[in-house]
Amino acid sequence: MQWHIQPLEEVFTQTKSRKEGLNHKEAQEKLASHGRNELISKPPRPIWLMFLGQFKDVMIIILLLAAVISGLIGDLKDTLLIALIVFLNAVIGFFQEYRAEKAMEALKKMATTTAKVLRNEKIEHLNSAEIVQGDIVHIEAGDMVPADLRLIETHNLRIEEASLTGESEAVEKHHQVLAEQNIPLGDRLNMAYKSTLVTYGRGVGVVVATGMKTEIGNIAQMLQESETQTPLQKRLAEFGKRLSFVIFAICAIIYVAGFIRGEEPTQLLLTAISVAVAAIPETLPAVITVSLALGASKLVKQNALIRKLPAIETLGSVTYIGSDKTGTLTQNKMTVQEHWLNPQLPQEAENLFWQAMLCNQDTQRQENGEIKGDATEIAALLYAQKQAPDCQVLLRTDEIPFSSERKMMTTLHEKDGKILVFSKGALEAIAEKCDSLPLEVWQVAEAMTKKGQRVLAYAYKVLEKNPQIEKITAEQKLQFLGLIAMIDPPRPEVRQAVAECITAGIIPVMITGDHPLTAEAIAKDLGILQSEKHEVITGKEMALLSEEELEFRMDKIRVFARVSPEQKLQIVKILQRKGHFVAMTGDGVNDAPALKRADIGVAMGISGTDVSKEASDMILLDDNFATIVKAVREGRRIFDNIRKFIKYTMTGNAGKIWVIFLAPIIGLPVPLLPAQILWLNLVTDGLPGLALAGEPAEKSVMQRPPRHPKESIFAHGLGWHILWAGLLIGALVLGLQAWSYASGSSHWQTIVFTSLCFAQIGQILAVRSEKHLFFSLGFFTNLPLLGTAFLNFALQMLLIYHPFFQEIFVTKPLTFTELLLCMAVAVIVFHVIELEKIIRRRLEKRAI
Ligand code: ADP
Ligand code: MG
Repeated sequence: MQWHIQPLEEVFTQTKSRKEGLNHKEAQEKLASHGRNELISKPPRPIWLMFLGQFKDVMIIILLLAAVISGLIGDLKDTLLIALIVFLNAVIGFFQEYRAEKAMEALKKMATTTAKVLRNEKIEHLNSAEIVQGDIVHIEAGDMVPADLRLIETHNLRIEEASLTGESEAVEKHHQVLAEQNIPLGDRLNMAYKSTLVTYGRGVGVVVATGMKTEIGNIAQMLQESETQTPLQKRLAEFGKRLSFVIFAICAIIYVAGFIRGEEPTQLLLTAISVAVAAIPETLPAVITVSLALGASKLVKQNALIRKLPAIETLGSVTYIGSDKTGTLTQNKMTVQEHWLNPQLPQEAENLFWQAMLCNQDTQRQENGEIKGDATEIAALLYAQKQAPDCQVLLRTDEIPFSSERKMMTTLHEKDGKILVFSKGALEAIAEKCDSLPLEVWQVAEAMTKKGQRVLAYAYKVLEKNPQIEKITAEQKLQFLGLIAMIDPPRPEVRQAVAECITAGIIPVMITGDHPLTAEAIAKDLGILQSEKHEVITGKEMALLSEEELEFRMDKIRVFARVSPEQKLQIVKILQRKGHFVAMTGDGVNDAPALKRADIGVAMGISGTDVSKEASDMILLDDNFATIVKAVREGRRIFDNIRKFIKYTMTGNAGKIWVIFLAPIIGLPVPLLPAQILWLNLVTDGLPGLALAGEPAEKSVMQRPPRHPKESIFAHGLGWHILWAGLLIGALVLGLQAWSYASGSSHWQTIVFTSLCFAQIGQILAVRSEKHLFFSLGFFTNLPLLGTAFLNFALQMLLIYHPFFQEIFVTKPLTFTELLLCMAVAVIVFHVIELEKIIRRRLEKRAI
């Protein structure tokens, strides 16, 4: 449809709407018939396909094929057993994936935007998905356009349409009818398209298309959402590939050695393939996805909404948090404490001071009497109401909005046939626009800011009515009215969070548009600004420094005051050059570049614009600084647990491989049957490993420096641990096998089977913490893990003592001594890993 060439009346007829918008009933009906305003990029994967996906691994297919072949030649029972174990494995994998997918879906739902829609002639904030064709929608700077709109009103409206046209420069929009048909979307200046970003001004439009019928919907249909892997997943997948070659080589040796010893060839082949299936860590990337997704759904309960999954993985690496002041470090509950009236002001103008405070740009009285809007303006409004109860609010005719670059704003009002102009903002900004200023004002303001108060200056002017020029001249030659000072108390939990940052090796820094003295007072109070070495710098000072000088001073600066969003971007760039891993908060339209550039861009859920949210990796649903620190903590916990999982499975697998690989070489028979190998893989790797993901954070998680994001997963002795602990398990189990085999007992195979299972129980209890001893963790602090450990023990007992399972798994009932010896393996493995922690701690202490 060529909406841009239609006159407005025609648009309204076509969309069955009018200037006053739809009523609730019409909207309901349209929603039912047209569907929700959502982009569906890909139909959800059916459950059965998700289940089948568990079998797509090449090694599993080879195993099943081999099992079928060997079943045809020989023992069908084995084939069935193998198939059953593979099936169980798939069931576990499926449920994990299903849970992860549901968690991600829930997160996506939370990330929806709201839109301002005219319904029943009132502006309502609705979920964007509920918008229908014909709705009248208001958009303003910072919003994401919720649907395709034909504009009917524009005020300096500028929209950035890169997602649609690829053009990153914002375009100026208008609401006149265009004449030319079939022009490119970028030239249809009286249209606004879904998912583009309003960077300036405001406008009103009528919805002409929603959901998949929008222009972006057309593209979404063509785009395939590509599966993205996190950096860690990519590295592990790469590592897994290399490891597979080693394992294939080992399997080949096992096969050849067995063949030479004269073992049965088909059975031997199955054994070799089973080893490969059990040892290749092909499930690792999937386990990571699950851990990250579950971590994300846990984080959202703590008010941190993760928009990009890889962010969780790297959160723990943050070395620097640059935080907004107002609303993030403070409560954004402003209360005016005092005022100062310009003594040179004529008596009759005094009332204007109060009137200026009442005339605001962004305050709306709700039906319940509550006032919503900009906290600064609300504070001024409430104060003026108390000080001058009889003062009248004037109707606003126009405005020049607040921006963090200008640090001031202006509203225009009609009074007695003239135009009354009110400006307010930072004193420096207002002072520049005033003709004359009482000299003492600077002193008064300084005293206020030193107390940590936010100071706002007011000025006014009367203009002849003339719509052509009134807005252009509004902010010139103003008369100074006075000052107000308000407090915005710090959030009580932030002090603790700042302290936690410091012990965790993270530098917390305040970045604000506010006055340096106000910022300094609050930063001191919060513990951000501590010693004499720490510095406060202003945007002006920053601009005078060279890049190198700034880079040099960067480490000392804890407060950036009166900075602009571009300078925020500059700060991020310098920090990254210095090797920092930066988390940066932002809420405005202009913060988007800094958020995108930061390693972790953090947007505000309550006060943030759609634009900033769109650019972020994480959204703070409560706007709270403490939530960032919680998220970092959680990120570290999740990463630790992934590391522990890798440590646990790789060491266990190494143990199994050593046993099966070395046995034939030292003259022992192949120690395990294929089904036994697969069973061990199922019970030891599956559930206990996943239970590790629920392990609580280490006590010292925020008392150690951040992990370097590029650091190898095998750093800090993990590689060595896998090597030596695997060898230890292998040696202990082989020792038992040799002893039993030499004594002529027929129990040697069951002993290997059981001791390997028990060894992994001992192992998992010990790897719960990297630093702390098991008994200092609290026995019951990870119940699922304890549960799976007991379950594995019980199942193993069942397998070796119940006649039915003895038949299936070809096990023998162990004697009491033999059982004790198998348990001894677990006890030894457990204690040696604990001993490693003690030694490591000693070494670390000595290193310091
Ligand atoms: P921050 O959010 O970092 O505290 P802002 O960018 O919101 O800082 O504000 C910077 C300065 O702009 C404030 O110190 C104040 O003087 C002025 N200011 C803030 N809000 C308003 C407003 N609604 N109207 C006019 N001036 C404002
Ligand atoms: Mg602000």
